[in-house]
Order: sequence, then structure tokens, then C-alpha cells
Amino acid sequence: MADTRSPATSFRVRHACGHYEWYPHLVPPDEEARLATPEQVLAAREAALIWKENRPCPTCYYDDAARAILDRMSALGVPAITLPRFTEATEKQRWWAHKIRTAKLLQIEQAFTEMHSRIVIAQQDPARRDRARFAQQMYGQAIVQVVSITQVTYWIDYRATDGWQLVLDAVPPWAKQR
Ligand SMILES: [Zn+2]
Repeated sequence: MADTRSPATSFRVRHACGHYEWYPHLVPPDEEARLATPEQVLAAREAALIWKENRPCPTCYYDDAARAILDRMSALGVPAITLPRFTEATEKQRWWAHKIRTAKLLQIEQAFTEMHSRIVIAQQDPARRDRARFAQQMYGQAIVQVVSITQVTYWIDYRATDGWQLVLDAVPPWAKQR
């Protein structure tokens, strides 16, 4: 796909992960306005460029953290998930959605970890074992379902909703643990 953005108004940066991203500014304009000389502005831009080049792109940055969370949850019985990369919307919206998803995953991990410890106890009780195993499967599948949502608008629209609530909404009512 042809990229029509002008190098005069945007900076194209190759990140440490190998992805390219465009930035309207390397240094925020209000920060540049506080610098006294053009040389200081150039030096600040160069430092910002080097810093960006040595880091993963925003998508990889948030997704690396998200993958670490998913790895920890798969050790607790959540099925392995291939984290989808967002492709629609503007960069800023995509980055924001990746950031929101990672924050939600952290909330999901906390809640699921607590739930998992209750499930482990229930599994030792023959009267509750089947139900506990079933709950683990249902909640694990709901987590997969939420994490697999690729619409950027979903993550942005639900940014204020706790991640665990998104999972609860994905569990069929008849399967909810009481
Ligand atoms: Zn990347």
C-alpha cells in the first residue's frame, strides 16, 4: 500500500522490532517551544529518534507485555491464544487499542488467578470437582473470546469497563459459577 504521508510533516522510524511507524512529531511541539535554540531542537529530535529506534514499536511494546500475561494464564489452564494484531483504524487508535487490551488483560489475569485458586480447592472435593473443571473451561474460553476481538472500536468503546467484566459478559448466563 502506498504511503502518501510527507516526510516534511511526519517522521518514519524503524523500530528495534523491525516495524516502521510514522510519527507527526519526534518531540512534542510544546516541549520544543521551551528550547532556546534551533540546535537544541535538533539535538532533542535526534535523541528522541535514537530512543525510538532502540525500542520496539508501540504495538510490539504493549503486545509483548500482553503475551507474558497470556503465558502466565495458560499455565493456569487458559487455552493458548495467538494475540491478534490490529490492522484497521489510524496508528494512534491502534496503539491505544493495544494499550487498552494489555491493561484489560492484567485485570483479567488478577481476577482469573483468584478464581483459579478457588477452582483448585473445589477440584479436591469430589462433589464439586466436575463443576469446577467446567467453570475453568467456560471462563478460559470466554477469555479467549474476548482477547480474540480484533475491532479497534471494541477496545476503545469498553476502555472504562473492567477487563474481568468483559470476560463475564462473554460467559453464557447458564454457565456462570454461583
Ligand atoms: Zn513492532
